[in-house]
Amino acid sequence: MEKQQKSSHVVLVMVTFQGHLTPMLQLASLLHSKGFSITIVHPEFNSPNPSNHPEFTFISIPDKLTESHFSDKDAASPVWNLNKNCAAPLQQCLEKILHSLHHIAAVIYDTLMYSAQPITEDLGLLGIVLRTGSATTMLFYPAFSQLDEERIDFVYEIKSPELQALQLKRLRALLSQNATKAMTEVRVAFANVLKRSSAIIVNSMEFLEPEALSKVKQYSPAPIITIGPLHKFAPAICSSLLTEDDKCISWLNKQAPKSVIYVSFGSIVNFDKEELIEIAWGLSNSKQPFLWVVRPGMVRGSEWIESLPNGFEESVGERGCIVKWAPQKEVLAHAAVGGFWTHSGWNSTIESICEGVPMLCRPFFGDQHLNTSSICNVWKIGLELQNLERGNIERTIKRLLVDMEGNGIRKRAIDLKEKAAFYLMEEGSTSCSLNKLIKHILSV
Ligand code: UDP
Repeated sequence: MEKQQKSSHVVLVMVTFQGHLTPMLQLASLLHSKGFSITIVHPEFNSPNPSNHPEFTFISIPDKLTESHFSDKDAASPVWNLNKNCAAPLQQCLEKILHSLHHIAAVIYDTLMYSAQPITEDLGLLGIVLRTGSATTMLFYPAFSQLDEERIDFVYEIKSPELQALQLKRLRALLSQNATKAMTEVRVAFANVLKRSSAIIVNSMEFLEPEALSKVKQYSPAPIITIGPLHKFAPAICSSLLTEDDKCISWLNKQAPKSVIYVSFGSIVNFDKEELIEIAWGLSNSKQPFLWVVRPGMVRGSEWIESLPNGFEESVGERGCIVKWAPQKEVLAHAAVGGFWTHSGWNSTIESICEGVPMLCRPFFGDQHLNTSSICNVWKIGLELQNLERGNIERTIKRLLVDMEGNGIRKRAIDLKEKAAFYLMEEGSTSCSLNKLIKHILSV
């Protein structure tokens, strides 16, 4: 098999949002370590730095995206435009690669780059989709797209405690509120791409989402390969689009074990100045040390942290550290970190689980609500922050990090970390999944 892999070429079609780019690069490294040669096709915006990955060939395709697509309040707008604008250049690019190499073993595309699926199919190539979010999100797609009413009942009539704890009906209603035309179209496209690809790779672990996975497997024609946690399984890579500020690690070195609340809302979330002020006072009044990531431009109408309230810095002193971007995986693994206040992005969720860090969840949009439900109601390793009011923030941080009430949550977080470590062991479930994927790629 090794010999055959050496001559096999896999093309990965990447979407260059941080939370999508990282798992795709991790998958690329994993396949490369198994002998495949790799070409990565990506849109122009947020281009990854090829010099960080000399082992891969990078091809950039025009996306015609402008600032206005990203400042649009509709989160689906950049994705919809990306697919519309990239379809033709992507087709030409794949044809060109095929012409020069004569053979492509497989094309692996991100769910967000759904336009790659029909192109791959037309060219007679093996198309595999990478789902960078949870497997549980896939329960929603038939329902959102209204593709099949029977399946909707099939999903929502589930009696298992795990799926009932997710409160799928409530979440579906929440996610359907104010769904724009672009959002609806993107969801239908997601459902189709999952239905029509030859296999679905998910950055998750079987034991995390057993009920959802078994339901999705019942209606999915394609095999589902759970290959997570990619950040632990794949060789280490440099994938940050922003520069990581390492000074926070020397600050963490000075803090007491499990005392710090790490605060980060990922790479996309934005909020208003009023919310920044409530977060700032909530952190200050909690009296816990905190490491807070505020991305430039994250606060609407501000460049960085100039809207922090008067008196905040004096009241916090050395107890707080604010950075523009942190080496998150290193931070979560640090002994001083006792809790993670997160927006519940899927990568952040998995990274926190793998380090046994309990979470304080404040979801903003999309699958962040569903992930919050899994964290707080199914795995019970976190608390949901119901509103961004300073008193509530202060109380919830204390409940998570210090109060007796948080003992169970903190213990379950450690238990889940141990399960993940076991899952990752050599010849364990993740290795089996990788072998399954390689077999699938080489099967054609
Ligand atoms: N991240 C990081 N430094 C930061 C904040 C985030 O390296 O200061 C990384 C984090 O480790 C994760 C990714 O950015 O891998 C965010 O992905 P996630 O799915 O959690 O959220 P998204 O950015 O897609 O909303």
